Parts: sequence; C-alpha cells; structure tokens
Amino acid sequence: MILVFPNTRRLFLITIFAISASAQTVASLAGEAPVKEAFSIIQRNEPEMLREQQRICEIAAPPFEESVRAAELKRLFEKLGLADVRIDKVGNVIGVRPGAQPRPNLVFAAHLDTVFPPGTDVKVSRTDDLMKGPGIGDDCRGLVVMLGVIRALNEAKITTKGTITFVADVGEEGLGDLRGMKELFGETLKGRIDAFISVDGLGSSITNVGVGSYRYKVTFKGPGGHSYGAFGNANPIQAMGRAIAKIDQFEVPDKPKTTFNVGRVSGGTSVNAIPFEAWMEVDMRSSDIGELGKLNEKFKAAMNEAAAEENQRWNNRGPVTVSAELVGLRPAGQTPESSPIVKTALAVNQTLGLSSHLGEGSTDSNVPMNQGIPAITIGGGGTGSGAHSLNESFDAHDSWKGTQRALLLAIALAR
Ligand SMILES: [Zn+2]
Repeated sequence: MILVFPNTRRLFLITIFAISASAQTVASLAGEAPVKEAFSIIQRNEPEMLREQQRICEIAAPPFEESVRAAELKRLFEKLGLADVRIDKVGNVIGVRPGAQPRPNLVFAAHLDTVFPPGTDVKVSRTDDLMKGPGIGDDCRGLVVMLGVIRALNEAKITTKGTITFVADVGEEGLGDLRGMKELFGETLKGRIDAFISVDGLGSSITNVGVGSYRYKVTFKGPGGHSYGAFGNANPIQAMGRAIAKIDQFEVPDKPKTTFNVGRVSGGTSVNAIPFEAWMEVDMRSSDIGELGKLNEKFKAAMNEAAAEENQRWNNRGPVTVSAELVGLRPAGQTPESSPIVKTALAVNQTLGLSSHLGEGSTDSNVPMNQGIPAITIGGGGTGSGAHSLNESFDAHDSWKGTQRALLLAIALAR
C-alpha cells in the first residue's frame, strides 16, 4: 500500500530554507569567480574522471551484490575528504560535505547497482570518446559526476551555507525495488533530507515525475489430478486464463499514463494432468498515485473473481485458491513544475545553454517524491545507447557539461 504522510516539521523546514534560486540568481552565481574556477577545474579533470568511470564500471555490481563497488566508493569518499563516511544497514555509502550549517541538507545520489547478473563480463572498451560496457552510462556516469562535483567543490574551495550529503546507493534497478532509498529516507537519514538530486541517465534531462509500480507473482493452486480420471476438478491454469482475460479488459487512462502487463506465465505438469499449480508475473504502473491505487484494487478483485468463477464452473470440486505476492513496489510521486527545485534546475540548464525538457521515469527520486520531499533526477551529460543491455555505450563528447550542470545545481540548492 502506498501512503503519503504529511510531515509538518519537514514542510516547515522546506518553507524556511526556501530551496530555490531564480534564473537571475543562478546566472549571477555562475558568474562568481570560485564557480567559474570550479567550471574550468571540471573541464580539466574530465579526462581523468572518464578513466575513473571506466575503472569503477569494471568492478561488478550485480543486483544485491553491490558491496565491492560500495567499498571502492567509500574509499573515494574518504580520499576526497568527506566527513562521517559510512555504509548503512542496506549498503548505501554515505559521506557528508558540511556547510556552514547542517540544514538545508541536500542529498546528492547515484546508484551503485546494475541490472547485470554475477558473472557478466564487465570489461569496458574505449575508442576516443566512445566507451562500451555494461552499466557504463547507467549508472557509472552518475557515480563519476558525483565524484567530479566533490572534487571541483574542494579544489575551488567552495563552501556552501547548507550541507551536501553524497550517497552511492544500492537497489535502484529491478527487484532491488529502491531498497537503498527506502532505507535512506525511512531510517538512515529519516527527517533530515530537505532536497534530493539523483544523477541517473545521460544528457541534460530533468525527471520530475516518478512512475510508480506494483509487481506481483500470482499463484493459483489446486489438487490437480488425471486429466481423464479426475475430470471435474477445478483447474489452476484455466483459472489463471480467466484472470489474464480480466486483466486484459482493464480500462486505464492515457493521461496520467497508466499501464499493465502480464510478463511471465508458468505452470502445469503434463498434457494429461490437471495442474496443481500455475503462476504469472504482473506489472502495473502509473505516474499518478491515485490511478495506480485504483488499478491495484481492480487487479486484486479480478484475481479473486477468477478463482471463484473457476470453482463455480466445477461446482467447487477440487477447488483452486489464489494468492498474490507483492514482489515489487515503487511508490509514485511527482515534484511539480512550479516547485522551487524544478525551477532552479531549469534556470541552471538555461544559464549553461543546455536544452531542457521535463520527463517522467522510475528512479531513486520516486521515494522522496512520494513523501513530498523536493526531488529530481538529472542526466550526467554525454550521450549513449543500449542501457540495460550488454552493448551499452557512453559517448563522452562534451560530457564535462553534465558535471558542470550538476555542480551549479548543487551550489544553487545548498546556498
Ligand atoms: Zn539507472
């Protein structure tokens, strides 16, 4: 279930810290000498950061097995002089760059994990600007942008009024189910985060809508039996067929985009046996928390109806049961276009001459968005293709612009 808890203390803090900067403020900020120096530092450091991107990416980080790459990020955070560097209960690496005061506390994050299973060849090849390897963009680029921002802040000796907490997090992909963020916002830094930026994806993108999802494994069970001898027993596969037909009939809105999919089915024993079990995996998504909730209710009702109809059809002989196990829950949420953090991000892009468009996605920002904490996900510069495939590539042409953008945004938000 998705719940939004209004947190009065947090709302108060957001109000007094007024995390925003007008286009004019951002432009004049970009013209300040230390910031200009940080910009040239970023450009100068980029070749080294790209080698770092390759090196980090060659440390495998399969789902639920991020610890080796995490240890390396911890070492780098310490080397860069962050304070209070630690790894939390689920494996997020955390390091603090204290400001003049503890709040506002801006969290700047990138995810450690990839979608690739253990044993995947994670060697990265490189020809000039073009790098190829699993995870090279998603999200090795984000990790390196984060490191590049810390370095530039240090080398340009920039101090911020608020604090910036850097996080290399676990569990962003797939069945990782945003567990890093759930822990960070629910336990590790609960009540102590005023704004959140995730660097994920490429180019100059800004994601302000978090598409939520429910994922289920649904299992139908019955006594089964011989197809001839036990004929008359209810059939789990046929019950599941009814369930799939019902899902197929769901009406969902185009806007907010709301979707459903039966992705995998399995079950049965033999052509001449009434099966004792069948299962399917179902994915449902929406950018709107209300629509996702409605769809989820329809889904649960449909599963129960399918089992009941199957049992009725066979006069409750050898009846089937159904159970739906929630295997994934990504909360939905959004940071409004009119919110200060989005306006600041747009002003930063405009100041740096980068194209801007707001988008939607399923990223680490879903968790804070769902809690009403200002959050966006930004691209890390460069271009690329093939995310989540073994042919993933990252083109580093002018990729330093992505790090400059992240830096200016961090300073504008932490002032
Ligand atoms: Zn990613």
